[in-house]
Amino acid sequence: MSRAYNFSAGPAAVPTAVLEQAQAEMLDWQGSGMNVMEMSHRGKEFMSIAAQAEADLRELLNVPSNYKVLFLQGGASSQFSMVPMNLLRGNSTADYFNTGQWSKKAISEAKRYCEVNVVADSAAQNFSTIPDSDTWSLNPNAAYVHYTPNETIGGLEFQDIPETGDVPLVADMSSTILSRPLDVSKFGIIYAGAQKNIGPAGMAIVIVREDLIGEVLPQTPSMFNYNTHADADSMYNTPPTYTWYLAGLVFQWLKKQGGLAAMGEINQRKADALYSAIDQSDFYSNPVDVRYRSWMNVPFTLANSELDASFLSEAKAAHLLTLKGHRSVGGMRASIYNAMPEAGVQALIDFMQDFERRKA
Ligand SMILES: *Cc1c(COP(=O)(O)O)cnc(C)c1O
Repeated sequence: MSRAYNFSAGPAAVPTAVLEQAQAEMLDWQGSGMNVMEMSHRGKEFMSIAAQAEADLRELLNVPSNYKVLFLQGGASSQFSMVPMNLLRGNSTADYFNTGQWSKKAISEAKRYCEVNVVADSAAQNFSTIPDSDTWSLNPNAAYVHYTPNETIGGLEFQDIPETGDVPLVADMSSTILSRPLDVSKFGIIYAGAQKNIGPAGMAIVIVREDLIGEVLPQTPSMFNYNTHADADSMYNTPPTYTWYLAGLVFQWLKKQGGLAAMGEINQRKADALYSAIDQSDFYSNPVDVRYRSWMNVPFTLANSELDASFLSEAKAAHLLTLKGHRSVGGMRASIYNAMPEAGVQALIDFMQDFERRKA
């Protein structure tokens, strides 16, 4: 089988050029005689890989100098507890938006540490929209405000950054980081699991404003203290070295594509093409408020769900993989992260139109 178009929500497709470079360096990274996964994390080879990856990420996102960039184990889910442990700083309440399955998980974990004020909630709309900002109940005394800019399961994305005044804003950007330019200075913390839009699983990237580091809840494990990792340049213990290396190759690839402004244009074209194909058909539909449709995760249903199984098996035969929707939503979901080329989206649209002609 030749390389297919993979629409998986995560772990997700990695750019082919990145995999080819990793393959070329598999047995001997740049004359070192070792694969990167065999290197000491404290050796000069890996230290240079790590520093280059951080520098490239800072350049792509234009990260201000008063932010630390951490490369941590534990995925995005560990951040659901690390954030309250590190950010409550003597405060007993935090604000959370509830706009989907990942928001819900972040909220239930935060409730172990503090009182959670739900600022806005679209559970009653099955998470298909974001409540208007004039209905939000932001608490000016909250320790922080947490939201999920892109809900990976529902396919719901904030198109603007919420305005929270002096209260630090925390964002779970797992499925949207690096998809377009971002003003990092608007955030207290940005975190993202790597396996959607960065590289392989096994790592979270945390971008944290320095003044928010240092005061943790009593009993916080060292591994859950941002200070531990900030002080040690993410080498307090063994970091996920191979994932860090591959992430670095992805950052270099993104720079070669023209950076995040170029990616943003490509991603918008991909999303527009797929949504307009869905909207022009009576056979396919997408349930999300058009104002908040995700550029990265596009759920859609077939008018006749009895055709779901044949849609999936025929798609697979056409080298269009992992289109099954999340078990909580049903139907289909096409995740079209940075690594999905426009030709892959076009191949999916062509397949969908052909399937509709034959089956509708
Ligand atoms: C995938 C995902 C997570 C969970 O990531 P893990 O690395 O598996 O812990 C959290 N938040 C969002 C928005 C996600 O898409």
